[in-house]
Amino acid sequence: MITLALSKGRIFDDSMPLLRAAGIEVLEDPEKSRKLIIGTSRADVRVVLVRASDVPTYVQQGGADLGVAGLDVLLEHDSHGLYRPLDLKIARCRLSVATRADFDYAAAVRQGSRIRVATKYTQLARDHFAAKGVHVDLIKLYGSMELAPLTGLADAIVDLVSTGSTLKANHLVEVEQIMDISARLVVNQAALKLKREPIRALIDAFGQAVAAQAS
Ligand code: ATP
Ligand code: MG
Repeated sequence: MITLALSKGRIFDDSMPLLRAAGIEVLEDPEKSRKLIIGTSRADVRVVLVRASDVPTYVQQGGADLGVAGLDVLLEHDSHGLYRPLDLKIARCRLSVATRADFDYAAAVRQGSRIRVATKYTQLARDHFAAKGVHVDLIKLYGSMELAPLTGLADAIVDLVSTGSTLKANHLVEVEQIMDISARLVVNQAALKLKREPIRALIDAFGQAVAAQAS
């Protein structure tokens, strides 16, 4: 049996065309069913639904053989023991710094002020500001980062942006792009040894599907 860890929402939705191209139909819609383990058209492949930030843990510890996780999650998480063979080029977005429109970020950076930054991505934010030599107080949040500058909790946020409409709706502006993000296929290294043939075949099929989607 091969177990693939996916998170509900955009990762699941964007993974479906790739799975289909690899000849795998997922048998249930996770938005309608409450099942956490879903069968597929292949008797030897199943999908487990986990929280996006739990995908690396499942795959590292062997709770799943493979998984799909955002680069944001992988970089923020310790990815020891994870084989990362493929950029799936799905769930694309960017990690950015945003502030209220009336906060002069460039001036704060220039003057060497301490900037209060709220984020779920404390590791990535710490690395980014340290590389720039900007002093920050990081405030760890688990959701709705946009609220922090509006309530005075923080001067800035570090968060994922795709269209920018969430920022816009909350009167925030993107002042710096940190990195481009997309979802990656991750594989448990022991599983790759023990189930080499079927896992290699899946990685190849995904690779071909990604190439076909790109062209
Ligand atoms: P949870 O909703 O369980 O708290 P989450 O917010 O990380 O976790 P999703 O919103 O489904 O879960 O995001 C999963 C992945 O999709 C992220 O890790 C990221 O790689 C990507 N993603 C997140 N936000 C966006 C976005 N606005 N546009 C495109 N991709 C995104
Ligand atoms: Mg979310």
